[in-house]
Amino acid sequence: MKLDRILKLSIIILLLSAVLWALLTNDRTPTAVSDSQWLMGTLVEMRVFGSQSAMRGAFKRIEEVDHAMSRTHPDSYIYAINASAGESWVKVDQDTFHVIQASIEYAALTQGLFEPSIGPLVELWAIGTPRASLPSAEAVEERKQLINYHDIQLDVEKRQVKLGAAGMGIDLGAIAKGYGADAAAAFLRNQGVKSAFLNLGGNVYVLGAKPDGTPWRIGIQNPEAPRGTHMAVLEVEDTSIVTSGPYERYFIEDGIRYHHILDPVSGYPAESGLASVTIVSPSSTAADALATGVFILGMEKGLELLENLDNVEGILVGDNRLVYVTSGLKGRLLSLAEGFELYE
Ligand code: ADP
Ligand code: MG
Repeated sequence: MKLDRILKLSIIILLLSAVLWALLTNDRTPTAVSDSQWLMGTLVEMRVFGSQSAMRGAFKRIEEVDHAMSRTHPDSYIYAINASAGESWVKVDQDTFHVIQASIEYAALTQGLFEPSIGPLVELWAIGTPRASLPSAEAVEERKQLINYHDIQLDVEKRQVKLGAAGMGIDLGAIAKGYGADAAAAFLRNQGVKSAFLNLGGNVYVLGAKPDGTPWRIGIQNPEAPRGTHMAVLEVEDTSIVTSGPYERYFIEDGIRYHHILDPVSGYPAESGLASVTIVSPSSTAADALATGVFILGMEKGLELLENLDNVEGILVGDNRLVYVTSGLKGRLLSLAEGFELYE
């Protein structure tokens, strides 16, 4: 081989490797930024493939939702509505109006078991606070009389809300985190983010697929094991996964466990034979509200409701560790933990 041919060949090889190297390193994957903040009474974690400012904006949206909808924060719209119960209308922001409207719809869907006007009972039981204790039967009965979502009055034109009777109170604890996730995800999308993972205290939202194009693998909480232990795994994209169960917040008195999902009919923590309900839906608002509502409805009625709804799937775990999934999730549960059995 002549020397100049060898030279030419080497130059070509060199150029080709340079091009290859450039292609391999410039894979356009945005860098990951992540952070966590204590918001909406829980730890909110985000991993965003995009800019710091996009992530900051998403956190800000959750902060706004928290500030508007907290039952206990004296500056919130919900606080103002509750303080004016039976007296006057309160003008609220769009977020709050939308969530109250949505919560009334979910109440109607769940035979009133998901109950946005559950405030007086939540206040009485105070589960999750240091003053949580078993209330008297009379007190439970008295508070129950104040609970009726039909008495939440809405003025769509003026964007105002009024509670029909004094003593009533809205509590959006079972839906606001879902809305916060939806709001944060919408903000990220608007910023051009294609991939992100949001976790609002177990209320998960995945935006797009992972940056490498593969689906996210999300663990479903094992209702009998410490937080972070999985009962199963789901591969998903662009969706929210929300689990409700009695294992998160509770107190024990005289050996009996009292948890934070209250049955508005009995006034006591819901006993429906379920260990947990996981809802999978592109709407985290729907997933949050339905996880709570279906938990109280129980296995049979819960499955029936979920099968009748579009864009909503569910995984229901019975106290007997039998796992039921709705038709859209058949064959999709991976790595089922030992002791659980899939009903098919
Ligand atoms: P978490 O927020 O702990 O993930 P949920 O979404 O199930 O769990 O919400 C539970 C919270 O919702 C309670 O702490 C309370 O504030 C409120 N809540 C309790 N019972 C009901 C009910 N029947 N309907 C609507 N909200 C409820
Ligand atoms: Mg909920």
